[in-house]
Amino acid sequence: MKITDIIGRAAASGKPRFTFELLPPLKGEGTARVFEAIDTLAPLGPAYINVTFHREDTRYTERADGLLERHTVRHRPGTVGISAAIARRYGIETVPHVICGGQSLYDIEDALIDIDLLGMRNVLALRGDARRGENRFEPHPQGHAHADGLVAQIADMNRGKYIDSEGAQPTDFCVGVAGYPEKHAESPNIEADIEALKRKVDAGADYIVTQMSFDNARILDFIARVRAAGITVPVVPGIKPLAAPSHLTVLPHTFHVDLPPDLVHEVERCRHNPAAVREAGTEWAAHQAAGLKKAGLPVIHFYSMGRTDNIARIVKRVF
Ligand code: FAD
Repeated sequence: MKITDIIGRAAASGKPRFTFELLPPLKGEGTARVFEAIDTLAPLGPAYINVTFHREDTRYTERADGLLERHTVRHRPGTVGISAAIARRYGIETVPHVICGGQSLYDIEDALIDIDLLGMRNVLALRGDARRGENRFEPHPQGHAHADGLVAQIADMNRGKYIDSEGAQPTDFCVGVAGYPEKHAESPNIEADIEALKRKVDAGADYIVTQMSFDNARILDFIARVRAAGITVPVVPGIKPLAAPSHLTVLPHTFHVDLPPDLVHEVERCRHNPAAVREAGTEWAAHQAAGLKKAGLPVIHFYSMGRTDNIARIVKRVF
């Protein structure tokens, strides 16, 4: 089922649903850890599951002659494969992420063909970040500079237009894109960022998933701005239960989001007790989820990055 239909049904029934995001396994790790994370949440009825895509990295190895050899490696390949495996094993709608970074239009088209042939109808279209060691995003020479180009490519495939041929069998993808309640790091201001978001929707995006925010007021203000800009597609807010003292610096650094002073204070107060920090983060996210539910949002998305026991506790309490 398309994600927009799932959101529409949740809205019509007045029964909000939850979704969550997982990472594909590290290369060579197998499926066990991913399935374990899903086993915790599957009985609670997730609306769908997102699976992230991880771009290539550079590794240098020293040769016998002392020269360094450069390798391009991917530490977490397998997004499409694990997405199909999850859908088959659990019968839950799965959304593989597709990114522009490091990929030509042909690479992307091939990945979308795999997703289509495997029977998946949903993708999240993203630009991706700069490659590690680069300080800005450099598009692939035959790739997209921004996610709107990727959305347009998928919209073309949905009309039967592939890169080198027209009149092919159309795909039927429902396309999500990213939105940023606290503004994307590279945007000069929130207004410019929402204009960019509108370009993605005009190119064919069907719904928006937000970057994590720890502040419901900012999420709701973002949705109001999105609506004021004439964007009518559904917005799914993303929240992350903070789970370790290191998150106080890692999350703002990695995702360019602010942590509210009250949350920081709570975590600081118990920072030498990991279980208490996890509890404080879970409590904060549960409060956020309850608030967003009360505000009438039909689907709420959780960022997990692996362990999901904290999300299960929130879902049992709030949904
Ligand atoms: P874009 O929409 O291209 O925006 C990037 C920047 O360019 C913004 O500042 C925007 O305002 C601006 N911009 C957009 N379009 C234009 C244009 N046409 N002209 C000029 N400026 C423009 N990353 C991964 O690598 N893998 C993942 O699986 C992944 N999943 C994610 C899931 C979610 C829900 C979110 C919110 C993010 C995810 N990311 C992922 C991170 C994402 O790739 C980064 O945030 C990236 O820096 C921007 O991606 P985007 O799709 O928003 O890019």
